[in-house]
Amino acid sequence: MHEKCGVVGVALEDRPAARPIYYALYALQHRGQESAGIVTHDGFQQHGHVEMGLVGEAFDEGDIADLAGQVGIGHVRYPTAGSVDSACAQPFSVSFKSGSLGLSHNGNLVNTDVLRSELADLGHAFTSDGDTEVIAHDLARNLLEEDLVEAVETTMGRIHGSYALTIAHDDRVLGVRDPEGNRPLVLGRLEDGYVLASESAAIDTLGGELVRDVRPGEAIVLDPDGTDYTAHQLVERERTGHCFFEWVYFARPDSIIDDRLVYDVRRDLGRALYEESGVESDVVMPVPDSGRAFASGYAEAADEAEFAEGLMKNRYVGRTFIMPTQDEREQAVRLKLNPISNTIDGKDVTIIDDSIVRGTTSTQLVELLRDAGAESVHVRIGAPPIVAPCYLGIDMASREELIAADRSVDEIRETIGADSLAYLSVDAVADAIGFDRDDLCLGCVTGEYPYEIAGEATDRDLDLPDRHVADAD
Ligand code: 5GP
Ligand code: MG
Repeated sequence: MHEKCGVVGVALEDRPAARPIYYALYALQHRGQESAGIVTHDGFQQHGHVEMGLVGEAFDEGDIADLAGQVGIGHVRYPTAGSVDSACAQPFSVSFKSGSLGLSHNGNLVNTDVLRSELADLGHAFTSDGDTEVIAHDLARNLLEEDLVEAVETTMGRIHGSYALTIAHDDRVLGVRDPEGNRPLVLGRLEDGYVLASESAAIDTLGGELVRDVRPGEAIVLDPDGTDYTAHQLVERERTGHCFFEWVYFARPDSIIDDRLVYDVRRDLGRALYEESGVESDVVMPVPDSGRAFASGYAEAADEAEFAEGLMKNRYVGRTFIMPTQDEREQAVRLKLNPISNTIDGKDVTIIDDSIVRGTTSTQLVELLRDAGAESVHVRIGAPPIVAPCYLGIDMASREELIAADRSVDEIRETIGADSLAYLSVDAVADAIGFDRDDLCLGCVTGEYPYEIAGEATDRDLDLPDRHVADAD
């Protein structure tokens, strides 16, 4: 199960948390469209509402009003191809001897199975096959003997993989980021409280101020009365493993992740793309929306070429990626994007996109542009070829589906029918993001991961938990 989600946690001084959580989830809707949920605590008991669908569909006024309490957490879940499974919708909540627990998780553990069977042997009953429930049960068990921060530390020593979590234990809300900092998580200050969220755009939406990123391996506990927070560095590693794809594709351009504004990174990636493999053409156009910032940086560096919007996007069509069959995905590209023939007819055209996954989008676009009269079509991509799957939370297809898994760049060019094709180098990506490449997770473009994943290579000496995937058998 590969999930890519958005998480929120809020503690306020003197008003219900549900509404700001709801707005924050709206701001994170791009991170997950399958389900939305909120869990609050009113000082006596927990309240929850989780439903399938978009944020705007999942809650009505009555649902928000029923979610009593000044603290709470929220979650939006990314759709996984085909399966619509309400058992996996979040926040996940359980009540047990030492209180009530709610969990919102973005990321993916890679040692879920060994932990689940261990906990099952101890009598824990599981309702889903998800990794989040495993974290919840492990925490619940530790909380019988330890205080909240100690319990989280113990659990962090047992789980391996990516996680940005917001957790509600009774009326205490905390945020936890895995020791590699794979998924983003930020802390913000509101006039009357604090907020934790996957992206800073959610803090902006609430009129708040970004305080800082939650550090890799850190837990931040919000005071239940919304007046302060405490920070606990629970695990420290020499190297981080920030997912580079957050800056390339996933996050909103107006979010700041690990101190870098996503929009600036994308423009720099576009500039670097021109410097590495610029091609002369009449017009440079973005593949909307994800290619926009890249194309503006590229066109600026190219300065003789005209920057034009030559592809119009139908804003009512959702992400084509989740269409279950290839035929549907191809039809969907035409539903979603239509060329403006005047900017294309008789011209040499360069189109800029952030990434190629299966190659559906670029194949369809090259054909569309030729039909619209393009003399030549050049494709420039603001990331390296995606050659391996993501196990850490981005739903990115298996190796067989990845067009670059077993093809050279020239073979890909031929497959998509372009006159020329170039990707960006891994070093340029690291440069633009501003991290050493050793501190990024580049698994999908190098095939080497910052975690131990069965059957895959790793890029570092790993600090593994005592019980792990490798000794499962
Ligand atoms: P392709 O058509 O090659 O399979 O996918 C490439 C397009 O999908 C690009 O325009 C890119 O912006 C977008 N994309 C890249 N990664 C993801 C992802 O993880 N999920 C979704 N929904 N779209 C993606
Ligand atoms: Mg796109």
